[in-house]
Amino acid sequence: MTDKMLKFVKIGQQTPPKREVGTRKEDFNEIYDEFINQKAQEQSSRCSQCGVPFCQVHCPLSNNIPDWLKLTAEGRLKEAYELSQSTNNMPEVCGRICPQDRLCEGNCVIEQSGHGTVTIGSMEKYITDNAWEQGWVKPIEVKYERDQSVGNWGRTRRTCCCRTIKKRWI
Ligand code: SF4
Repeated sequence: MTDKMLKFVKIGQQTPPKREVGTRKEDFNEIYDEFINQKAQEQSSRCSQCGVPFCQVHCPLSNNIPDWLKLTAEGRLKEAYELSQSTNNMPEVCGRICPQDRLCEGNCVIEQSGHGTVTIGSMEKYITDNAWEQGWVKPIEVKYERDQSVGNWGRTRRTCCCRTIKKRWI
């Protein structure tokens, strides 16, 4: 494992490149560009694969972060995506807007030891955006169609509903 992971001692923390202010003023697109594949693998490999992964402990969805980081470091992006979406119905959204600094990244063990957190949010965004590009994102297959409105439901109930549909219990 040390071959591919625990590189935080040699590789510094890096976020995707920030886009020029002038360009952003013109198009109002995102602040950061996408990671390139090699950079995503490199940054994932900084993870120390903690026995007690505080990133996961502090994730409200209990995302299996250490495992999808390892899969990304190994170039197994499809498996990384499948694992990531198995606990999260919208990883491309969470990768962009979750308060990672207070959740997974803020509690990352290597952040606490002064090496700079693994850039988990950017990785999550990269994995899912790549999955969309590759056509790996498929609609959930439902066994029976039900007329149910989830418009006013909170996040927990919506998540519960989506997971139930995925398992084909309804
Ligand atoms: S806490 Fe940080 S170093 Fe530990 S498993 Fe999570 S991402 Fe990796």
